[in-house]
Amino acid sequence: MRLREKVALVTGGGSGIGRATSTLFAGEGAKVVVADSVVDGARETVQTIKENGGEAISVQGDVSQAADAERMVQETVNTYGKLDVLFNNAGYNVYGSVHELSEQDWDKLMSVNLKGVFLVSKYAVKHMMKTGGGSIVNNASSFGIIAYPRDPVYCASKGGIISLTRQMALDYASYNIRVNCICPGPTLTPRIERAIKAAPDPEERRKQSIKNVLLGRFAKPEEIAYPVLFLASDEASFITGIALQADGGQTIH
Ligand code: NAD
Repeated sequence: MRLREKVALVTGGGSGIGRATSTLFAGEGAKVVVADSVVDGARETVQTIKENGGEAISVQGDVSQAADAERMVQETVNTYGKLDVLFNNAGYNVYGSVHELSEQDWDKLMSVNLKGVFLVSKYAVKHMMKTGGGSIVNNASSFGIIAYPRDPVYCASKGGIISLTRQMALDYASYNIRVNCICPGPTLTPRIERAIKAAPDPEERRKQSIKNVLLGRFAKPEEIAYPVLFLASDEASFITGIALQADGGQTIH
């Protein structure tokens, strides 16, 4: 068990990659706090974990709100006494080129995808600094490295996460807090399934999504959860500040 005795907070744990990672963390011995703005999803994840013999609670909250971010961390510490692992995973996408998007589109997405990482980390590191360290994994994207058509705000937010990860690794190494990020390629989650269904030509959209993926397919959420587990665990004890690409070779081009 790679997270035995550890306490983990997963944001956006009610669906997709966050759900797969919460479940995997619990299977590896962690007590897991599943935080999500959609509480039903978080509760379903907790139920699955408990059915498999694991330990978890759900917390409703929006990572873009400072009070909610603080409460996620506080409830973790109140319930389980500490916080060892934070997976900053909550995020979403808004499609459209720069001239088609509104200022509100920019502000809202940035406040969830990028400010959310800042806020939850801000409260988490305060505990980790007192308790001798921890591991933070941020969910960036291959689109933080390469460009994708009609996706400017998301690409900018994910590039920002990669940069924030490197900066935080620098500031907190002396506190034994490792900070890394994962850069998933296209992963078949409920969010992506919805986007494909909503496209004018769903089959074309599906093909476009995986066009440059060398392995020629979407990842399953579990295929992202495993590298996140590695970064979160002591197996990665000498790794900090990296962006680990789990993208089926998409970024080679
Ligand atoms: P998803 O929609 O299936 O799951 C995201 C979860 O985050 C949902 O439960 C949602 O309710 C929650 N959430 C959204 N906004 C929130 C907020 N403000 N506060 C708290 N919770 C919030 O999506 P997913 O595809 O699993 O994406 C998870 C993360 O992985 C995102 O950061 C996404 O950018 C990243 N990612 C996904 C892919 C992919 O292809 N699926 C690729 C690269 C990166």
